[in-house]
Amino acid sequence: MIAQNREILEDRIRRACERAGRERDEICIVAVSKTFAVERIREAMDAGFRDFGENYVQELEEKRSKLGHDPRWHFVGHLQTNKVKYIAGYVHLIHSVDNFRLAQEIQKRAEKANRTVDVLVEVHTTGEATKYGVLPDRTEELVRQIAGLDRVRVHGLMTMGPFSDDPNDSRPSFRRLSDLKRRIEDQGIPMSHLSMGMTHDFEVAIEEGATILRIGTAIFGERKKKERTI
Ligand SMILES: *Cc1c(COP(=O)(O)O)cnc(C)c1O
Repeated sequence: MIAQNREILEDRIRRACERAGRERDEICIVAVSKTFAVERIREAMDAGFRDFGENYVQELEEKRSKLGHDPRWHFVGHLQTNKVKYIAGYVHLIHSVDNFRLAQEIQKRAEKANRTVDVLVEVHTTGEATKYGVLPDRTEELVRQIAGLDRVRVHGLMTMGPFSDDPNDSRPSFRRLSDLKRRIEDQGIPMSHLSMGMTHDFEVAIEEGATILRIGTAIFGERKKKERTI
């Protein structure tokens, strides 16, 4: 089933790339495997996925203990400072850094693990009250602060679109993130990635410059209701 889903997804991504005049290989898919069992992740690996996203540290830890380092583990949810120590030694990319205290904790734990941790800064682009992320006009300052930490590398920005069934409602958010990235780059800070676009709005995200899509449902199917919302 996942192999078939991948073909359908690839088709849609390729078509969106064509529409946007972009190359398929500019875009990386993170398969968001939260709530799904390790057997499904194995199936996804067999289908060719390599990058997996989780949004709870404990769930990530359990899955990693069974699957090891072969999958590249992305952390895409809200990260509490006191949980950084569990994942700093192996996480491939943290998408959700939205304050300097968290970045400092990542620095400390990365030093202990003798590695550098790659991160994205999560930006709050929707004006909705329930989302995490740094405000757009504080983003450059946070990126600059983090750039001063030698064990934390900022590779770009991440955002979530608004809660809506209409993918076009995400366009202003995605455009805002894209503009922010460009503005920060103009200040001499290179940023290669924009993590934006989920199952319902990834085509709009591609049109607006996404380089990382975080896709759950289109790969694994519907999640059970019991999932906690972030
Ligand atoms: C669950 C989740 C996704 C994937 O959502 P789908 O709609 O299932 O594709 C992407 N990003 C984050 C941060 C998530 O928590």
